[in-house]
Amino acid sequence: MIIAIDGPAAAGKGTLARKLAEHYGYAHLDTGALYRAVASRVLRAGVAPNDSAGATEEAQLLDAGDLLAPDLRTERVSDIASRVATVPGVRAALLDFQREFARRPPEGQKGAVVEGRDICTVVLPNADKKLFVTASAEVRAERRWKELAAGGATVSRAEVLKSVVERDRRDEERAQSSLRVAPGAFLLDTTKLDIDAAFEAAKAFVSGQN
Ligand code: C5P
Repeated sequence: MIIAIDGPAAAGKGTLARKLAEHYGYAHLDTGALYRAVASRVLRAGVAPNDSAGATEEAQLLDAGDLLAPDLRTERVSDIASRVATVPGVRAALLDFQREFARRPPEGQKGAVVEGRDICTVVLPNADKKLFVTASAEVRAERRWKELAAGGATVSRAEVLKSVVERDRRDEERAQSSLRVAPGAFLLDTTKLDIDAAFEAAKAFVSGQN
């Protein structure tokens, strides 16, 4: 069983995917973390963000330890991740790992919940259940700002909104694997839903009740 979830930045996909994985006893893959780990490597290696060959090389060298980088959730890494994600070589380097994870989830688990931007459209177009989770940019920025503030970051709401809108634009406009709603995907707008309501709606869809 493969549940694929796409959606824009800070739409709550991560929380939702984690809760679904926990509920059904499936493995969870946050593919944004892979792009963030590449970005973190790019920064550490001093590769220029517009150096496509350099970014591709870092993606090819990615290992599990990179997912533990302390800067993974920072705004700097968010920004660089959305830039390296436009490089076709970077996307190609990450593709097999994502597909293999879904095909053979770790620890013999019977299914996988995979979330990102191009999971339903490109990575796993044959997934059993496809969801597109979204919310207004303002609501997404507010949620992201609260998360950052809780972690001690001193960033303004306006800066976070600007970054969310900018990342949306890059994800939607890139030539390859751009962010869009896959045919047949269940559209879940969480602008007016809290996480419990969003989870109930997603669960009802996955269980075939809506
Ligand atoms: O989901 P998250 O915000 O952590 O993703 C970080 C960045 O990685 C996104 O802004 C997006 O540009 C990129 N990404 C992607 N394709 C995915 C997952 C993430 O391009 N499947």
